[in-house]
Amino acid sequence: MAVPSSQVTKVSTDSPVTKASKGNASFSPALVVVDFQEDFCPPAGALAVEGGRDIAPAINSLLSLPGFTIRIATKDFHPQDHVSFASNHPAPDNKPYESNITIANPENPAEVQTTRLWPDHCVQGTKGAELVPELDTDKLDHTVEKGKDSRVEMFSAFYAGFQEPQIANSGLAEMLREKGVTHVYCVGLAYDYCVKCTAIDAASEGFETYVVEEACRAVDASKEAHEAVAKDFQKHGVKVVSMDGEEVQRVRKIAS
Ligand SMILES: [Zn+2]
Repeated sequence: MAVPSSQVTKVSTDSPVTKASKGNASFSPALVVVDFQEDFCPPAGALAVEGGRDIAPAINSLLSLPGFTIRIATKDFHPQDHVSFASNHPAPDNKPYESNITIANPENPAEVQTTRLWPDHCVQGTKGAELVPELDTDKLDHTVEKGKDSRVEMFSAFYAGFQEPQIANSGLAEMLREKGVTHVYCVGLAYDYCVKCTAIDAASEGFETYVVEEACRAVDASKEAHEAVAKDFQKHGVKVVSMDGEEVQRVRKIAS
């Protein structure tokens, strides 16, 4: 998943990220609310994550902080023929949550990935694709739609999981750089898929990256799965933080 930023975007030498990556003391945090959509929430979501809706108060509390430079929501936003839908594959290897498929990079057949099949979810134009009504959407500055290329899975809000070449770049990294963002705080659904991949890509893009644990829920809430995600985060330099921790405190301290 990690992509060296040199392969990703050309950044002019005077851009804000250059300053940030040199490790000066600047602090310009962004909040990224990942896929807080009807289809990922009980009671009726097609791919509901247990307790998904319960994170609304924590996320809204973060959204209300004036210290964030920019507040972004992401939406999984698939066409009906999306490759990750089990319904688009022939039986018997098309069981949602169970079957895996191998996908090749549309521009490089040698680069392949194996990925899980899901029930149809977050189809463009359906209620399932909408952000949940509990979310304070009036506090959002921008919404990024992802997963719109039917040929590739896209957990991360930055780009699909291919690297040579990169596919379906959403422009999120460029947007954060243009705003001078140095730190990215990730929350939302699901902790072990789209939040994880978005956070890891944010770190790979050179942003100091945090995942606020209470403001996420996982598809697999087992202890083993949680530990596996923690290892991935550690490997990629993503820090898991708490609503009460010093990292969130630092945003709270920025006056309105
Ligand atoms: Zn999806």
